Amino acid sequence: MNWEPWTGCYQMSDGCKYCYFYGPHGKRYGQNTIQKTDKFDWPIRKNTKGEYNIKGNKILATCFATDFFLPEADEWRKDAWSIIKQRIDIDFLILTKRIDRFNVSLPSDWGDGYDNVNIGCTVENQALADYRLPLFLSYPIKRRFVACSPLLEAIDLSAYLHGIDHVTVCGESGRDARECDYDWVLDIHEQCVKANATFWFKGTGTYFKQDGTVKKINPFKQGSIASELGINISNGKKLF
Ligand code: SF4
Repeated sequence: MNWEPWTGCYQMSDGCKYCYFYGPHGKRYGQNTIQKTDKFDWPIRKNTKGEYNIKGNKILATCFATDFFLPEADEWRKDAWSIIKQRIDIDFLILTKRIDRFNVSLPSDWGDGYDNVNIGCTVENQALADYRLPLFLSYPIKRRFVACSPLLEAIDLSAYLHGIDHVTVCGESGRDARECDYDWVLDIHEQCVKANATFWFKGTGTYFKQDGTVKKINPFKQGSIASELGINISNGKKLF
């Protein structure tokens, strides 16, 4: 289930190049105007019986079609944090390419972090891993994961995996997608084994290189082919 309190975004990172919402195809699939949606207060909206519309014990993917830490949302984010705090029975999964803006508009009672917030830092290549992950680890966050998505090259995460619960890896999708090499995926998988982090190979991407051959993968099969490779590590936990 998703919660998109605002919409719109713009490119700021190597992985954004072919973003199908806000990249070159933005006119067709999305828009670059950042604005609140009519779902802004959805997690705390109640029905006529006074019950929350969204029942508890759920994972709510938050801002997966925009970015929670956009500068344009700095004022709105204060209210969004307040909504998140009111629903301690929901896990809010927040994925961002702007982790360096984490401290902006952070609530005064944040302390070591809210228990129901799981923040995912996206890193697409080594340079972004080396820039974002030391910052990510320095912030007070109780639950952290890393998303190598889209994975654009081999990345050594091993210096940063202490304090990271989980790593997701996904190739890039779309007509212009850059190739994803299975050797890069296996390498990150090995790093997670050593660090005892859970690992999810979410999707192959459109152009998937395996054993020296690049294959074009149908978008509807990218997830199942990744899963069939059998390299996920759940350690008995539910992967997102
Ligand atoms: S941050 Fe995410 S949503 Fe925004 S342009 Fe980049 S890939 Fe697209």
